[in-house]
Order: sequence, then structure tokens, then C-alpha cells
Amino acid sequence: MNDSTHQDWHAKARQLRPRTQLVIDGRSEPAASGATFKCISPIDGRLIAEVAAADAPDVDRAVVAARRAFEAGVWSRTAPRHRKRVLLRFAELLRTHREELALTETLDMGKPIADSLAVDIPSSANCIQWFAESIDKLYDEVAPTDPGALALVTREALGVVGAIVPWNFPLIMAAWKLGPILAAGNSVVLKPSEKSPLSALRVAELALEAGIPPGVFNVVTGFGHTAGKALALHMDVDGIAFTGSTATGKQIMQYAGQSNLKRVSLECGGKSPNVVMSDYDDIARVARASAFAIFFNQGEMCSAGSRLIVHESLKDALLEGVAQVARELTPGDPLDEKTRLGAIVDVGQMQRVLGYIDVGRGEGARLALGGSQVRVDSGGCYVEPTVFDAVQPSMRIAREEIFGPVLSTLTFRTEEEAVRLANDSSYGLAAAVWTRDLARAHRMSRAVRSGVVYVNCYDADDITVPFGGFRQSGIGRDKSLHAFDKFTELKTTWIDLT
Ligand code: NAD
Repeated sequence: MNDSTHQDWHAKARQLRPRTQLVIDGRSEPAASGATFKCISPIDGRLIAEVAAADAPDVDRAVVAARRAFEAGVWSRTAPRHRKRVLLRFAELLRTHREELALTETLDMGKPIADSLAVDIPSSANCIQWFAESIDKLYDEVAPTDPGALALVTREALGVVGAIVPWNFPLIMAAWKLGPILAAGNSVVLKPSEKSPLSALRVAELALEAGIPPGVFNVVTGFGHTAGKALALHMDVDGIAFTGSTATGKQIMQYAGQSNLKRVSLECGGKSPNVVMSDYDDIARVARASAFAIFFNQGEMCSAGSRLIVHESLKDALLEGVAQVARELTPGDPLDEKTRLGAIVDVGQMQRVLGYIDVGRGEGARLALGGSQVRVDSGGCYVEPTVFDAVQPSMRIAREEIFGPVLSTLTFRTEEEAVRLANDSSYGLAAAVWTRDLARAHRMSRAVRSGVVYVNCYDADDITVPFGGFRQSGIGRDKSLHAFDKFTELKTTWIDLT
């Protein structure tokens, strides 16, 4: 509840009993090997749970169950209206269990409880609801052939889909896959990140409660190089829907090539440019948006505006504004509802972020703000908002995804230079342009190579618009009706009428 106090959330955290077993064919099961892995909270280093560590035999059991359910037609051949009703119940159950799921998410990966409550759980439920509502409103096609034929172009479910997701928005990333996968009638084996496995296990239980038949929605918790790899290499998986790093995305493509040429869709990393033109006059507004673009969710955002590319005339005023906002964002206890910035997901990721801060200093960038680990006594993983100035395009902190609260600032003089800098990346996920000039806004948004371009805002979002990347940010799109392309096959049925 919104009126829960700080104390309440700590008390609730102590009472939480997370699910720890795999969900296969509607049953909770340990890994065949009996292996488990530790789930440590980045809030304070506390052990939350020991979770089943799936490997190839467990993945195989899950895929067999998913295939059996698919072939039986218990979900795949039901009326769209039926799937809609069940998925709407599923979305409602996510809302009913909002507090428990939000707490699970916060304990598991360290984000502020206020964000889990206000963003992660409602947005996941809305996503499932939106795809549920869409599925009985989609029509197939009749091709404009000669009169002597009737050619139907229909969409069919792909079959068994493996969904492999990361830890930064565990439930939202899963929901972006589950919504269209399940609405289209597929079976799914979901592999959450080993850094945030808990919410997926509970959500699979809620799906069963909503009426999704056993075997349709399975969850295998475990590591990428074991469970994830086994899923991506499996000969009876028809598609992998992946969200995660570009490096892993490349491996997933290889696994598809080494096995059965399964369809692969990838939502990968980014190093997104946030470009502020000299005519943009509301510095307070762009400063606020630029700070949230990189510091929200501790900077653990694929679309983070991690490169602030600003006209040299505005740079000092803008950085002062960003610093003012950053001072409101001191990392705090994620279980305090007033906290705006939480913990980094684990020690490894925190070390990686701190390592990049050292790299930036070593490369000669000027540390304008932050740069340190904080709240060390908590036993958790916290890094303060950090801003680098005088960053050169060739520096690693301008090129590599840090995935933490670290902003790199670059300057330019002309529009051409701004576009060149914006596009000087192997990624192409998101970008923003701040300008009052309408023609320039259109010109630049066309010129920037990325899946989304925000104009005079950052991270504006809605389930109705596709999300995904150009270049090494990925292949395919999540959200919107376009997401169905990834989880359906097109079939032509040609009927001779002569
Ligand atoms: P990651 O690539 O390390 O892991 C992602 C998932 O892949 C995890 O479930 C992991 O266990 C699994 N995995 C790892 N190695 C594997 C292998 N060899 N075979 C199969 N599966 C494997 O990424 P991460 O650290 O969890 O997440 C951060 C990354 O995700 C960042 O690069 C971020 O930009 C990206 N991301 C992208 C989007 C998007 O929509 N484009 C959204 C969120 C995060």
C-alpha cells in the first residue's frame, strides 16, 4: 500500500517467503541435480533465498512440457477471446499481488520500492492486459490474387518460445515477452536472470491461478552459460526472445545457427545520445530530464541517456542543472518509500561501474560530480550519481555501455557535428534531441540512427509504440502490435477456385 511506512517494508521483507523452485508443467520442482544458487540482496548483502539452478536436463523437461501443451492445443488452439479472458485475469492477479511482487523485485535487484510499486508492477500488468485485449481484434489477410484463386495469409503461433531476460526490470522485461507470446497462443519457457530470479517464479504461479494451463508457461531459474545456453541450443525450441547484453545476444545467434535455426529476436545494449541544441531555452527542464535519463533505476537502463551531447554554449549551465537534480538523488535505503536511487544489482556490477569511473579518470575526462561508492556500512552496493565532463568521443566511457549512474558529457558546435557524434556508436537503441526549431527536430530525428528518438523529452513511454534497436542494439521490436511479428509464423493458403 502507498501508506506503508519504512518500518513496514522492512518487516514485510523479513516475512517474505519467496518461491525457489522451477515451474515445469504446472508443478514446482527442484533442479534434477539438486543444485541451487544463492540469491543475495544488494540492499544489505543479506541471503534472501537459495534458488534451484537449472541445467540442460531441467530445460529439456520444461521444453518437453511446453511442446506437449502446445501440441495438445489446450492454449494454442483456444479461441482468442478465451485467451483474452485468462490473460486479463492474470493481469489482475499481478495487480492484486502488487505489494508482494514489488517487494520481491526491490529485495532481489535493489531498485527503490516506490519505483517497483509505481512503475514495475503496474507496467507489467498493463502490458499483459494490452496484449490480452488486442488478440481478439487482429484479422488475417486475403491476398489480391486473380479471381481464380483465394489466397489466405494467416498468422499462426510460432510454437515453443524461450524467453531469456535480464535483471534491470525483471518483471517488465518478462512481461514484454510474455504478453505477445501467450496472447498469440505459444508455449513459453522463461529464464530470468540469475541476479533476479524470484519474481518470475511467483508470477508463473499466478499465471496458473489465472487459468493458463500447466506446461504453457514454465520458468527455469539458473545461469546463462548453463540454463540459458541449453534453452538457446535446444532443438525443439522454435524461437528465442532475448533481452540482455550485446555480447550475449551474439552468442544466442550462434546457438541458433549451431542448432535448429530457431528464430532469434534480440533487445540488447545501448549508449544513447541525449542531444541538446543551442536554441533550447528551458535549461531547468532539460537538466531534470537528462538527470533522470541516466540516474533513474541507478542507470541500469538499456535506453539510458548516457551520452549528454550539448552545444558548447549551454554546457556549463546544463551541468550545473544536472548536478542540482543529482543532489536530490542520493542513494538511500530502497525499502524507504522516499528513496529515489537504490542499490546496484550486485557486487560484480558495482565493481564494473566503479571500474569505468577509474577508466574515465585515467582517460583524462574531468570528474564533475560523484564518482564513489556510498553507504558502505549498509553491506549493500551503492554508487552515487556521477558526471564526467570533457569526454572525447574516442574514450571508452563515451563508447562502452556502463549500465550504472555514470554520465559522459561531450560538446559540439554545429548541427552536423551533433548528428555525427550521436551516430558515432555501435549501438542505436534510443536518442533525444532538444530543440525549439521544428524543422531541425524533424531533420535530426531522421538523421539519428536509433529505434526511438525523443524530441524535447526523454524516456517517454507507452505500450502502444515499438521498442528496440538499430545496429548492435538488437533485432526486432518489443511492445505494440509489431511484437506479434516475433512470435507468429505467416502462412499462405492458396485455394484454386477453377
Ligand atoms: P546478460 O546478457 O548478462 O544476461 C541477460 C540474460 O541472458 C540473463 O538471463 C543471463 O542469464 C542470460 N545469459 C547470459 N549468458 C548466456 C548464454 N551464454 N546463453 C544464454 N543465456 C545467457 O545481460 P544483463 O547483465 O542481465 O542485462 C544487462 C544488459 O541488458 C545491458 O546490456 C542492457 O542494455 C540490456 N538490456 C536491454 C534492453 C532492451 O530492451 N534493449 C532492456 C533491458 C536491458
